[in-house]
Amino acid sequence: MTFDADCIFCKIIKGEIPSFRILEDGSTLAFMDINPGNAGHALVIPKYHTPDFLEAPEDWLSATMVTAQKVARAVEKTLEPHGINIVVAHGAGAAQSVFHLHVHVLPRAEGDDLRLNWGLVPGDMDAIGELAERIKANMGVL
Ligand code: 5GP
Ligand code: ZN
Repeated sequence: MTFDADCIFCKIIKGEIPSFRILEDGSTLAFMDINPGNAGHALVIPKYHTPDFLEAPEDWLSATMVTAQKVARAVEKTLEPHGINIVVAHGAGAAQSVFHLHVHVLPRAEGDDLRLNWGLVPGDMDAIGELAERIKANMGVL
Protein backbone atom coordinates (compact mmCIF):
# COMPACT_ATOMS: atom_id res chain seq x y z
CA MET A 1 0.00 0.00 0.00
CA THR A 2 1.21 3.48 -0.79
CA PHE A 3 0.61 6.35 1.59
CA ASP A 4 1.38 10.07 1.52
CA ALA A 5 2.88 11.29 4.79
CA ASP A 6 1.18 14.69 4.42
CA CYS A 7 -2.31 13.37 3.58
CA ILE A 8 -4.91 13.67 6.32
CA PHE A 9 -6.78 10.53 5.19
CA CYS A 10 -3.54 8.50 5.06
CA LYS A 11 -2.97 9.66 8.64
CA ILE A 12 -6.47 8.46 9.57
CA ILE A 13 -5.77 5.05 7.97
CA LYS A 14 -2.55 4.74 9.98
CA GLY A 15 -4.30 5.86 13.19
CA GLU A 16 -2.10 8.95 13.48
CA ILE A 17 -5.21 11.09 13.90
CA PRO A 18 -8.42 9.85 15.51
CA SER A 19 -11.59 8.94 13.64
CA PHE A 20 -14.91 7.26 14.26
CA ARG A 21 -14.31 4.07 12.26
CA ILE A 22 -17.39 2.18 11.20
CA LEU A 23 -16.07 -0.45 8.77
CA GLU A 24 -12.64 -1.64 7.76
CA ASP A 25 -11.24 -4.40 5.59
CA GLY A 26 -7.88 -5.09 3.99
CA SER A 27 -8.26 -2.47 1.31
CA THR A 28 -10.81 0.11 2.51
CA LEU A 29 -11.85 2.15 5.54
CA ALA A 30 -15.13 3.87 6.37
CA PHE A 31 -15.41 6.53 9.05
CA MET A 32 -17.69 9.37 10.06
CA ASP A 33 -17.28 12.81 8.50
CA ILE A 34 -16.54 15.31 11.30
CA ASN A 35 -18.25 18.13 9.37
CA PRO A 36 -21.43 16.28 8.52
CA GLY A 37 -23.76 17.63 5.86
CA ASN A 38 -26.44 15.67 7.72
CA ALA A 39 -26.44 13.27 10.66
CA GLY A 40 -24.88 9.95 9.68
CA HIS A 41 -22.59 11.39 6.99
CA ALA A 42 -19.78 8.87 6.39
CA LEU A 43 -16.70 8.68 4.17
CA VAL A 44 -15.23 5.63 2.46
CA ILE A 45 -11.61 5.58 1.30
CA PRO A 46 -9.13 3.15 -0.18
CA LYS A 47 -6.13 2.22 1.97
CA TYR A 48 -3.99 3.51 -0.84
CA HIS A 49 -3.11 7.10 -1.58
CA THR A 50 -4.68 8.04 -4.88
CA PRO A 51 -5.73 11.66 -5.23
CA ASP A 52 -9.04 11.47 -7.00
CA PHE A 53 -11.68 9.63 -9.01
CA LEU A 54 -9.97 9.96 -12.38
CA GLU A 55 -6.54 8.85 -11.12
CA ALA A 56 -7.78 5.92 -9.05
CA PRO A 57 -6.74 2.43 -10.17
CA GLU A 58 -9.83 0.37 -11.00
CA ASP A 59 -9.34 -2.25 -8.30
CA TRP A 60 -9.07 0.35 -5.53
CA LEU A 61 -12.05 2.26 -6.89
CA SER A 62 -14.12 -0.92 -7.06
CA ALA A 63 -13.24 -1.94 -3.52
CA THR A 64 -14.12 1.55 -2.28
CA MET A 65 -17.53 1.49 -3.98
CA VAL A 66 -18.35 -1.96 -2.61
CA THR A 67 -17.58 -0.73 0.91
CA ALA A 68 -19.66 2.38 0.25
CA GLN A 69 -22.61 0.12 -0.58
CA LYS A 70 -22.19 -1.76 2.73
CA VAL A 71 -22.02 1.51 4.63
CA ALA A 72 -25.05 2.92 2.80
CA ARG A 73 -27.03 -0.22 3.68
CA ALA A 74 -26.14 0.17 7.36
CA VAL A 75 -26.94 3.90 7.26
CA GLU A 76 -30.29 3.07 5.64
CA LYS A 77 -31.08 0.55 8.38
CA THR A 78 -29.94 2.86 11.18
CA LEU A 79 -31.47 6.18 10.17
CA GLU A 80 -34.14 5.28 7.62
CA PRO A 81 -33.28 8.52 5.82
CA HIS A 82 -35.44 10.04 3.11
CA GLY A 83 -32.65 9.14 0.69
CA ILE A 84 -28.88 8.80 0.49
CA ASN A 85 -26.52 10.62 -1.86
CA ILE A 86 -23.39 8.72 -2.82
CA VAL A 87 -21.10 11.57 -3.83
CA VAL A 88 -17.58 11.89 -5.19
CA ALA A 89 -16.21 15.39 -5.75
CA HIS A 90 -13.57 15.51 -8.46
CA GLY A 91 -11.29 18.53 -8.33
CA ALA A 92 -11.30 21.79 -6.42
CA GLY A 93 -13.90 23.17 -8.81
CA ALA A 94 -16.27 20.48 -7.59
CA ALA A 95 -15.43 21.33 -3.95
CA GLN A 96 -13.00 18.45 -3.46
CA SER A 97 -10.98 19.54 -0.43
CA VAL A 98 -9.07 16.34 0.45
CA PHE A 99 -6.99 14.84 -2.32
CA HIS A 100 -7.22 11.20 -1.32
CA LEU A 101 -10.09 9.48 -3.13
CA HIS A 102 -13.20 9.36 -0.96
CA VAL A 103 -16.85 8.53 -1.41
CA HIS A 104 -19.40 10.42 0.66
CA VAL A 105 -22.36 8.44 2.00
CA LEU A 106 -24.69 11.31 2.80
CA PRO A 107 -28.13 10.62 4.28
CA ARG A 108 -30.88 13.02 3.28
CA ALA A 109 -33.73 14.35 5.35
CA GLU A 110 -36.99 15.30 3.70
CA GLY A 111 -36.94 19.00 2.80
CA ASP A 112 -33.33 19.49 3.94
CA ASP A 113 -32.61 21.41 0.74
CA LEU A 114 -28.97 20.34 1.01
CA ARG A 115 -26.79 21.86 -1.66
CA LEU A 116 -24.05 19.89 -3.39
CA ASN A 117 -21.50 22.17 -1.71
CA TRP A 118 -22.88 21.63 1.76
CA GLY A 119 -20.05 23.49 3.55
CA LEU A 120 -17.76 22.31 6.31
CA VAL A 121 -19.48 22.93 9.64
CA PRO A 122 -18.00 20.99 12.57
CA GLY A 123 -20.43 18.47 14.01
CA ASP A 124 -21.14 17.50 17.63
CA MET A 125 -18.51 14.81 18.33
CA ASP A 126 -20.66 13.02 20.93
CA ALA A 127 -23.56 12.77 18.49
CA ILE A 128 -21.23 11.61 15.68
CA GLY A 129 -19.66 8.97 17.94
CA GLU A 130 -23.07 7.71 19.07
CA LEU A 131 -24.26 7.42 15.47
CA ALA A 132 -21.03 5.62 14.52
CA GLU A 133 -21.80 2.94 17.12
CA ARG A 134 -25.39 2.54 15.87
CA ILE A 135 -24.30 2.28 12.23
CA LYS A 136 -21.55 -0.21 13.14
CA ALA A 137 -24.11 -2.31 14.99
CA ASN A 138 -26.15 -2.53 11.80
CA MET A 139 -23.11 -3.81 9.88
CA GLY A 140 -22.55 -6.57 12.39
CA VAL A 141 -19.04 -5.40 13.20
CA LEU A 142 -19.47 -4.52 16.90
P1 5GP B 1 -14.50 16.78 -0.11
O1 5GP B 1 -14.77 18.22 0.19
O2 5GP B 1 -13.05 16.60 -0.50
O3 5GP B 1 -15.45 16.12 -1.05
O4 5GP B 1 -14.71 16.01 1.25
C1 5GP B 1 -13.73 15.94 2.25
C2 5GP B 1 -14.44 15.62 3.52
O5 5GP B 1 -13.48 15.25 4.47
C3 5GP B 1 -15.23 16.80 4.09
O6 5GP B 1 -16.60 16.49 4.15
C4 5GP B 1 -14.62 17.01 5.46
O7 5GP B 1 -15.57 17.29 6.43
C5 5GP B 1 -13.93 15.69 5.74
N1 5GP B 1 -12.78 15.81 6.58
C6 5GP B 1 -11.74 16.68 6.43
N2 5GP B 1 -10.85 16.47 7.42
C7 5GP B 1 -11.32 15.46 8.18
C8 5GP B 1 -10.83 14.80 9.35
O8 5GP B 1 -9.78 15.09 9.90
N3 5GP B 1 -11.60 13.79 9.84
C9 5GP B 1 -12.77 13.42 9.27
N4 5GP B 1 -13.44 12.41 9.83
N5 5GP B 1 -13.26 14.01 8.17
C10 5GP B 1 -12.54 15.04 7.65
ZN1 ZN C 1 -3.79 9.75 1.34
